[in-house]
Amino acid sequence: MQALLSVSDKTGVLDFARELNALGVKLLSTGGTAKLLADAGLPVTEVADHTGFPEMLDGRVKTLHPTIHGGLLARRDVPEHMAALTKHNIATIDLLVVNLYPFEATVAKAGCTVEDAIENIDIGGPAMVRSAAKNWKDVAVLTDASQYAGVLAELKKDKAVSRATKFALSVAAFNRISNYDAAISDYLSSLQVDGDVTGVPARSEFPAQSNARFVKLQDLRYGENPHQAAAFYRDLHPAPGSLVTAKQLQGKELSYNNIADADAAWECVKSFDTPACVIVKHANPCGVAIGANAAEAYGKAFKTDSTSAFGGIIAFNTEVDVAAATAVSKQFVEVLIAPSFSAEALALFAAKPNARVLQIALPPGGATAWEQGRNLQDVKRVGSGLLIQTADNRELDKSELKVVSAKQPTPTELEDLLFAWKVAKYVKSNAIVFCGGGMTLGVGAGQMSRIDSARIASIKAENAGLTLKGSAVASDAFFPFRDGLDVVVDAGATAVIQPGGSMRDDEVIAAANERGIVMVLTGVRHFRH
Ligand code: 5GP
Repeated sequence: MQALLSVSDKTGVLDFARELNALGVKLLSTGGTAKLLADAGLPVTEVADHTGFPEMLDGRVKTLHPTIHGGLLARRDVPEHMAALTKHNIATIDLLVVNLYPFEATVAKAGCTVEDAIENIDIGGPAMVRSAAKNWKDVAVLTDASQYAGVLAELKKDKAVSRATKFALSVAAFNRISNYDAAISDYLSSLQVDGDVTGVPARSEFPAQSNARFVKLQDLRYGENPHQAAAFYRDLHPAPGSLVTAKQLQGKELSYNNIADADAAWECVKSFDTPACVIVKHANPCGVAIGANAAEAYGKAFKTDSTSAFGGIIAFNTEVDVAAATAVSKQFVEVLIAPSFSAEALALFAAKPNARVLQIALPPGGATAWEQGRNLQDVKRVGSGLLIQTADNRELDKSELKVVSAKQPTPTELEDLLFAWKVAKYVKSNAIVFCGGGMTLGVGAGQMSRIDSARIASIKAENAGLTLKGSAVASDAFFPFRDGLDVVVDAGATAVIQPGGSMRDDEVIAAANERGIVMVLTGVRHFRH
C-alpha cells in the first residue's frame, strides 16, 4: 500500500505517518511535508523523485503529474487501467492525505492583499482530492486531521479501509472542495477593485454571487405545519453563542416552530447584561423582565401575560438554579434555554421528560462582547430569491437619545424607556411595548396599524391585571399621527420612546407636551417582520 501525504496544516500528520510506516505503508510526500517526516526519521520519497519531475513555479506545480493522477485514478477492477499503469511504470496510490492551502484563514486576516489571497488558492491539492474522491472504491482520501484516528483503527484491525468509510471520506472530500471553491468565489466576487488589484481591496458584504453554505443539523418531523417537510441547518461557520451551538440536555425532539421561537427568545435575552428572562410565543415575546436573579426575572416576565406564557419558550441569560426551576416547572413549558443549569434544577426537570432543555454558552467576552455573538446576516426567502441583510445589531447608546418634550425624564423613566426600547426590537412590527420596573406590562405585536398595536398592548395589560399608570412605552417606528400616542397616554403611559422622523413629528411632539408626558427620540428604527 502506498500513501501520498501533502498537507498545509501539519497537525497530527507526523504521528499518523509514523503509524502508517509501522503498518508497512510506503510514504510519498511533497516538499514541506516530506521534510517534516524525513526530519523525524521516517522513510519518505519526495514526489519530485517519484515522478522524476521537480517541484516548480514556487510550488505552483508539485503533484500535477500523470504519475500521481494515474496512480490515484486507475480503476483496480479494470484490466486495461492496470495494464496502462504497468506500461507507464506507475504505482497505485491507495491513501491520499491532503489539506489545502489556508485560503479561508488568509482572506479572513485584516490587511490581506489580492496577491496573498491568490497565492493561497491551492491547485494541485484539490486536483488530487478530486481524483482520489472520484476513485473512492480504490482510494481512501483524508482531508481533515479529525479523520486520521478512524482510518488508522481500521487499517490496524483489517489491513484495509472499509467501503463505507471510503465512501464517507469521498463525500467529505467533495464537500471540502466545494466549500473551498465557494470561499474563493465569495472572496473574489466581493472585491471592489475597479480593475486595480494591488494592495488591500475594499470588499462588499454582499458578493456578486453568494455561496452561503449550510450543514444539516437534523431532519425535523415536519415544518411550520404537519404537511410541510423540514430540516434544520447551521451556517458553515456559526457565530459563537448562536442558537445552532445549543446542546439539548433533555426532552422531546425540537420542532420547526420550537427552533424559530427559541431563536427569538435567545436573541432577545442575550441582549441584556443583567439577569433576564424572556418568554416567547409565536415568535413574539409575551413577557420580558430583568431581576436580581433568574427566579425573580421569570416571575416578573410571567406576570405580563400568564395566559400566553402557557406552552411558551423560556430563555434566561443566567444560570437556572433550583429556585428558578421550581417556579418555571409550575407552568407548561415547551423549551427552556439557559447558559447553564444547577444540578438540582436539572433533576427537577428530569421529572418532566417532555420539556426540551437547551444549554447554550453565551458568546465569549461577557456582556460587552455579546454583540459579536449575534448572527451577522439575516436571510429571508422570497419566491425564488433571497433577501439578505446585515442583522439588526444596532444597540442604542444613552448619549444618542434626544429628549424632545418639555418634560425631562426622571432616571427611573429613562431606565424604563431603555428597557422598553430593547424589548421592542424583538417584537414583530408594528410593535408597542409598555414597561415599568424592569418588566413588560403590555405587548402589542404584529399589527398592520400602530394604533391597533397600542390598543392591544393596553387591553393585554388590563387583562393581566397590570396597571399602565406611570408606565414607559416604546414604539419600534415613528407615530405617523398623534392618534397612537393618545391611545398610550390614555392607557396611563407617562413616557414614550420612539425613533421620530415622521412628517408630523411636530404634531406628535406637540401632543406629547399637551398631554404632559416625556418624549424621547432615538433616531433608530427597529422594524422586525
Ligand atoms: P508542502 O508543505 O508539503 O510543501 O505542501 C503541501 C500543500 O501543497 C498542500 O496544501 C497541498 O494541497 C498543496 N499541493 C500539493 N500539490 C500541489 C500542486 O501541484 N500545486 C499547488 N499549488 N499546490 C499543491
